[in-house]
Amino acid sequence: MTTPASTKPYAEVIGDPIAQSKSPLIHGFWLEQLGIDAEYHACHVKSEELQDYVERRRDDTNWRGCNVTIPHKLAIMDFVDDPGNVRDSIGAMNTIFRQEDGALAGTNTDAAGFFAPIADGEWQGAHAVMIGAGGAARAVLFALKQAGMDDVTIIARNALKASGLLMQAGLKGQVLPMDASLPQADLLVNASPLGMSGQPALDIDVGALPDHALVYDLVYAPLETELLKSARDHGLETVDGLDMLIGQAALAFELFFGQTPPMDKDDSLRKLLTA
Ligand code: NAP
Repeated sequence: MTTPASTKPYAEVIGDPIAQSKSPLIHGFWLEQLGIDAEYHACHVKSEELQDYVERRRDDTNWRGCNVTIPHKLAIMDFVDDPGNVRDSIGAMNTIFRQEDGALAGTNTDAAGFFAPIADGEWQGAHAVMIGAGGAARAVLFALKQAGMDDVTIIARNALKASGLLMQAGLKGQVLPMDASLPQADLLVNASPLGMSGQPALDIDVGALPDHALVYDLVYAPLETELLKSARDHGLETVDGLDMLIGQAALAFELFFGQTPPMDKDDSLRKLLTA
């Protein structure tokens, strides 16, 4: 484990691997914009080091908390003092922060980060189709349920896992195999890595979706995925993965540093992240 020494207040993102994380760029940008004298690092933490990491940081009063990424989003729940209702709701944690009494609390900002860009839509009673049944999918399902949807179709290679997620989220719906034709939907979400650089392509035809459907890809590298390009070619509205990435980071930033990030600077931040 790399231990960044800092005499300033700091937060970090932990995972294995971690070099690919864009969180240091995002938080660093906001710290600079707001003139906050603090730091945000990436810290490589292997699974067997996770408990030790939390115990060391607990005693470091400069440490404001951390974002948590693959593969620690489930395991970290065992090491915080106050996991809230995360275990029973989303079932995965992406942010740890220090409370006023020093206790470590955990939360998940992915669901709110996912929903923020589509919050203006009318989703009560709508039908969504989601591809993938991993950690991000849990946050998406939680958000969709909160938004008043109760019918979600999951397209996944592991039907049992996908059915379990629907049940845990309190949603009705069906699970289809990866080669199924895309059913009618008001919202299509790709919560799998398919279409990401270095991953297989996402083989799905969005041509049959209704004109009002919105297509949302959580993948942000590349930003313009084949899915989003095809959706735009069909005249459909789209949301890319950077919106969620920035949204979930903004909520964590407030928990770490007590200030709201300057969202009016989003265009500059997006340029930085895609440079
Ligand atoms: P994860 O926990 O590893 O889950 C990935 C899901 O995709 C699993 O259900 C997995 O199937 C499925 N999958 C992977 N490869 C597949 C393949 N070749 N064919 C069919 N299904 C496949 O990952 P995650 O954390 O949910 O992340 C998923 C994607 O969302 C990633 O691209 C990640 O970068 C992105 N993401 C973006 C944000 C954002 O802020 N924009 C936030 C979180 C995640 P199994 O269940 O069978 O393993």
